[in-house]
Amino acid sequence: MTIHLDLATVLLLHQCSFLVGALCFIYMRLQSRSGEGLGALAASYFSLALASALAGLGEQHLLSVPVWGFGSVTLGVTGYALFWIGIRGLSSGKQRRMDWWALAIPAVVAILAFVTQFHVVGYMRGTIGNGFAFASLAASAVCVLRDRARERLPVRLLLAIPIALGALLALLVIVGLLVPDVAPMTPIWAFFLRIMCQFAIALFVIILVTERTEAELRCAAETDMLTGVGNRRWFMSRMPRTALEGNALLLMDLDFFKQVNDRFGHDAGDAVLVSFVEAIRRNLRPGDRFGRLGGEEFGAYLPKTAASKALAMAESLCNVVHGLTVECGGERISLTVSIGVAAVGERQCSLTDLFKMADAALYTAKDSGRDRAVLFEPSIRAAA
Ligand code: GH3
Ligand code: MG
Ligand code: MG
Repeated sequence: MTIHLDLATVLLLHQCSFLVGALCFIYMRLQSRSGEGLGALAASYFSLALASALAGLGEQHLLSVPVWGFGSVTLGVTGYALFWIGIRGLSSGKQRRMDWWALAIPAVVAILAFVTQFHVVGYMRGTIGNGFAFASLAASAVCVLRDRARERLPVRLLLAIPIALGALLALLVIVGLLVPDVAPMTPIWAFFLRIMCQFAIALFVIILVTERTEAELRCAAETDMLTGVGNRRWFMSRMPRTALEGNALLLMDLDFFKQVNDRFGHDAGDAVLVSFVEAIRRNLRPGDRFGRLGGEEFGAYLPKTAASKALAMAESLCNVVHGLTVECGGERISLTVSIGVAAVGERQCSLTDLFKMADAALYTAKDSGRDRAVLFEPSIRAAA
């Protein structure tokens, strides 16, 4: 079976794909808070739709070559400059003012066309237009992948693929125009495949914005606003299902914290909580998980930490907090913390049991004078 593609139909589909994409970008821009770059992308797709429409009219001899050629090449280059600007903004999450300088390129192309009239020669118009499309798309694909180091969204790879394919197809159009004998496909087929890429780009841009919003919401739902550490929801979600052998849990509770609030005010209490969190974070190991369980109570889960080591770490944390003074409103506030330590021995236990053990040890630390760490032992359970 041979499939015949006529240029007018392909150009019409081309325009439609850009228009649908532009409408999607505008909708996402209005709906989403993290829609940086979407405005430029919408403008890019509109510009490319217009460039394609002019080429379509030219193909049907409804416009003279100097008119549609000039319009389609300058609008096309403008569209791909805007595409690069939009992808830069979208990918990095912030639009830099410098990026807009890319719009100087279409201005230069327009002047060049005006002076040299290169746009009336088909292969020259095609080569310059597609050459710039290749450069813009290739740079955009690299930008999406490079920003993966900063923001790991799974869809980045999926977005980079159709952008890179679009770049490759633009290159194939140039090969088809300059050396048709060696080209693996005709320019018309390359244009047809680019339509698929344009739809895929619009789709994956929408998924990227959605994934980013979800990640932001997840982060907000799991982070304590005051101290910036994970909250109880985060802490519990990072715990293993069962407490594993050789792991330990520390439950920390600031001593007489109510008195800090009563004496120095709630804002001072907040400043103390922030300083406490910074001090503890500085003294935990990279793999340890530390979160605010509520009020002035915090938890630390220490993987691969035997009971004696966990107790030593907890005692060292008590000393760090004991030596801490927080300056607030001209007052110097000192504080202490009590820590209950529970370690999983030779047999695994449930998380509920581990929390109960640490809680009982914390209770004992409070009861025996505060400002100390106590390791859970069976005698404590008996006493509790
Ligand atoms: P104990 O040594 O027995 O733990 O005494 P305590 O005063 O620390 O215990 P209590 O549970 O009675 O008081 C905890 C206080 O922590 C009460 C509450 O007002 C205060 N608190 C809880 N969350 C915050 C917060 O986000 N900011 C401030 N400033 N205070 C808070
Ligand atoms: Mg408390
Ligand atoms: Mg307390």
